[in-house]
Amino acid sequence: MDVKKATRPDPYSFLEGGGELGERTRLFKWEQTSVGAVSEWPQSLLTLVSVILSSKFPMFLWWGNELVQFYNDAYRPSLGIEGKHPKALGQKGRDCWPEIWPVIYPLMEQVLAGDSVWQEDQLIPIYRNGHLEDVYWTFSYSPVRNDSGKINGVLVVCNETTEKVIASKKLAESERTLKNMILQAPVSMCILKGPSFIVETVNKKMLELWGRSKEQVLNKPLFEGVPAASGQGFEDILKNVAITAETYSAAEQKLHLIRNGEMEDVYVNFIYQALKEGDGSVSGILVVAVEITKEIEARHRIEIAEQRARLAINAAAIGTFDLDLESGKVVTSKRYDEIFGFQEPGTHMDYVSSIHPEDKQIRDRAIEITRETGRLYYESRIIRKDKSVRWIRVDGVIHKNEEGKYTRVIGVVMDITDQKYLIKQKDDFIGIASHELKTPITTIKGYTQVLEEMLKVNGDAAELSIISKLDKYVSKLTNLINDLLDATKMMSGHLQLNYSEFEFDELVNEIVNDLQLTMAKRIDINCGAPGCLVKTDREKIEQTVTNLVNNANKFSPNAENIIVRTFRKGEEVVCEIQDFGIGIKEENVSKIFKQFVRIDNDSKINFPGIGLGLYISAEIIKREGGKIYVRSKEGEGSVFSFSLPCINASSPT
Ligand code: ADP
Repeated sequence: MDVKKATRPDPYSFLEGGGELGERTRLFKWEQTSVGAVSEWPQSLLTLVSVILSSKFPMFLWWGNELVQFYNDAYRPSLGIEGKHPKALGQKGRDCWPEIWPVIYPLMEQVLAGDSVWQEDQLIPIYRNGHLEDVYWTFSYSPVRNDSGKINGVLVVCNETTEKVIASKKLAESERTLKNMILQAPVSMCILKGPSFIVETVNKKMLELWGRSKEQVLNKPLFEGVPAASGQGFEDILKNVAITAETYSAAEQKLHLIRNGEMEDVYVNFIYQALKEGDGSVSGILVVAVEITKEIEARHRIEIAEQRARLAINAAAIGTFDLDLESGKVVTSKRYDEIFGFQEPGTHMDYVSSIHPEDKQIRDRAIEITRETGRLYYESRIIRKDKSVRWIRVDGVIHKNEEGKYTRVIGVVMDITDQKYLIKQKDDFIGIASHELKTPITTIKGYTQVLEEMLKVNGDAAELSIISKLDKYVSKLTNLINDLLDATKMMSGHLQLNYSEFEFDELVNEIVNDLQLTMAKRIDINCGAPGCLVKTDREKIEQTVTNLVNNANKFSPNAENIIVRTFRKGEEVVCEIQDFGIGIKEENVSKIFKQFVRIDNDSKINFPGIGLGLYISAEIIKREGGKIYVRSKEGEGSVFSFSLPCINASSPT
């Protein structure tokens, strides 16, 4: 030990400490380099190396003509693992840094000529950790002199700033992403910076919301760029967000803006969100807004419409209901309960069981139709708890869910007792009047026929013709009164049907032959259901066919013929009466089977009638278990059809 100490030259004491690189520098065989043995180092080098090794700041030295290298522990991590360290110590600069020599050597020449170089966050990729890495440095290259004052080396004091640069790159990248996101966002967005809320970034949607162009707002204080927005309280809210960094959000905020040159009330949902720096300080405010003006206006319109509907419902004393078909729960209005005579709302079944037992099938049928049409409509009687009977009209719509399942019925109910009473009064009056008219008319008819017979005997042709005409008009009057009587009987449910069995084609043939005698127009008959028996009221079917053929004749003044057809269809026999007359407009087709309905037609001809014939025909056919319907085209003619069950349907004859 003592020997070692004694042989160790004094100059080594300056290499004491210095960590790993101190040790390595001490042990390095410098005599094998152009720097020479430590004992021969000039003082300037000794001092420099001593400073480098003891410094906690990364330092590096190139010395002599070959730029032989020295560095310290603080510098060592920059050389990576399995990289240039420890080979770099004592190595020639050119050998150590072939990959960056073209970059650093020109700098070095500058320094060796006496200039210092300082660079910040400079990218100098180096080979370390098994590959070429992008490394950033902030460094100074300064000339160092030997004992004779000549520049003999370059001292590098450096700091690797890769992490800092990457962090700030990432920050810039995320800022760029944020900006892009804002610019492409489907909602209105902008970033405000600084105490005067300068609009730093703004997207198209926000410009549309403000009613301003990019040039008008970008890089300008917000309330200068959008002056119409000032004075509405937003300045204070923004200031508060900037101070407290607390997010502020508002829903359905109304604001006035000038858009397209006009002052407009605009509704928005918006958020002011503070953008924070790493240290928590607020660097800006992100504004996100969604304009909901249209939605709010639509809601207002719905509210007004609802108000109007409510007013109308109240004024018309209409009760409303909302029935959930899944749960069976019903929500009713006060008026609805009053109509049913309920003090408190009842269950759905309470209301249903109020329906008059005789009218229950009306409701059932209406529900069946609802499934096809989506509309619920019927008139029926109800019996209140106090046993009083009232008439109601139910009118509603049925809703389906996405799977097509019926879920809900919403509708209104009206008390139509008074209306029904008035109709009954009218029907009673018509009934009494036609009944009272029937006797004198029958008597007149009798006398007319007697007179006709007498005149035939006397042979006065002129008087006979007058009496024949009189008889014809009396017959028309008789038919009219009979129609009125039939209609009133039907309405009151007192129409009697006298059933008998007969062959359908035979009856149709007979009627058509009789009618042909009274009609100028040709009736083409085509009976195609021979042997088909029906069991109905023969007289009423005769009345129906006569009615339909007479109508076909009446409403086809310019046509040459009418066609009457019969045929079997399944278990039914069908009779069709076709004319080539004025036809019926599509929108009127559904009305014509109702009582007292007469359709105005565009032709100049005034067709006589009181609108009862089809009503009576339809009621007769329905009661006989058949169907009646019409196909028609305006200007081309109509085909009225009715069907009846055929009692020998299975027999082919
Ligand atoms: P009326 O013939 O007494 O007016 P109906 O009940 O027989 O009463 O007919 C009702 C209405 O239906 C008629 O007023 C007419 O507008 C229309 N209509 C009936 N049959 C025909 C037809 N064959 N062609 C065109 N319109 C018809």
